[in-house]
Amino acid sequence: MVGPPTSQDTNDKLKALKDPMMHTQDKPQLKAEARNLSFYYGAAKALKGINMPIYDRKVTALIGPSGCGKSTYLRSFNRMHDLYPGNRYEGEIRFFPDNTNLLSAEVDPIEVRMRVGMVFQKPNPFPKTIFENVAYGLRVRGLTSKRLLEEKVEQALRAGAIWDEVKDRLQALAPTLSGGQQQRLCIARALATEPELLLFDEPTSALDPIATGAIEELVSELKKRVTILIVTHNMQQAARVSDYTAYMYLGEMIEFGKTDEIFFKPNDRRTEDYITGRMG
Ligand code: ADP
Repeated sequence: MVGPPTSQDTNDKLKALKDPMMHTQDKPQLKAEARNLSFYYGAAKALKGINMPIYDRKVTALIGPSGCGKSTYLRSFNRMHDLYPGNRYEGEIRFFPDNTNLLSAEVDPIEVRMRVGMVFQKPNPFPKTIFENVAYGLRVRGLTSKRLLEEKVEQALRAGAIWDEVKDRLQALAPTLSGGQQQRLCIARALATEPELLLFDEPTSALDPIATGAIEELVSELKKRVTILIVTHNMQQAARVSDYTAYMYLGEMIEFGKTDEIFFKPNDRRTEDYITGRMG
């Protein structure tokens, strides 16, 4: 039951007015923002002027029918398209708190990939040991101390919720793990270098329901430490794991909002048609 306001309540309100940090506590902070982002595969325009916020330490799901540009959009965040000739971006992806434009020609894509990690549809561990899979990115970054490497590998494997299953066989080859374990290893590998944003491209589509459940649980846990952007064709998954959802169609961002609003009261007819299964 709500009683009359006490002097403590009034004090808190006054404090909140004076303290801008307290005032904005409930408001999510921006981690990244797409601004008028377009993308071309040669002459073909795959993304059309996308504007969208990515909130800090939240999970944002990208949904939409096959071919609408979800993967293309996701891959823009770590400059994956730069690996192929003829691809071209327009617009910006701002990254915070430093307000860097990730797409700027002055920004080295390798630097971007240090801050933005990626987990693919099919688990893709290197044909190396479990330990070396996770240590790889740390070594690339110049870490040589055996003790520190061991410490960081353990931390990442714990964060990837796979430590207990592999701690006694760190020298086994990664491809000997089950599909679900391989995917959690790939997540641990991505986490080892402490990215700020983690991109997931349909990370459970090659997994059984139990392994899928484990990854979904992990995603919900990981958002305490890292911002997550996830492409999924599974609407139940989007509803289960995400805080925000964006509906894309034919290269456009049709609607973005809180996940429950997108699913229960979408503003755009096209979103509603997709959600209710009338389209796609
Ligand atoms: P989604 O992830 O929503 O299924 P994609 O981002 O894969 O969609 O594809 C968006 C559009 O870009 C589609 O028309 C697709 O055919 C096209 N496309 C995707 N990859 C390439 C590529 N490497 N070269 C040329 N066109 C591509």
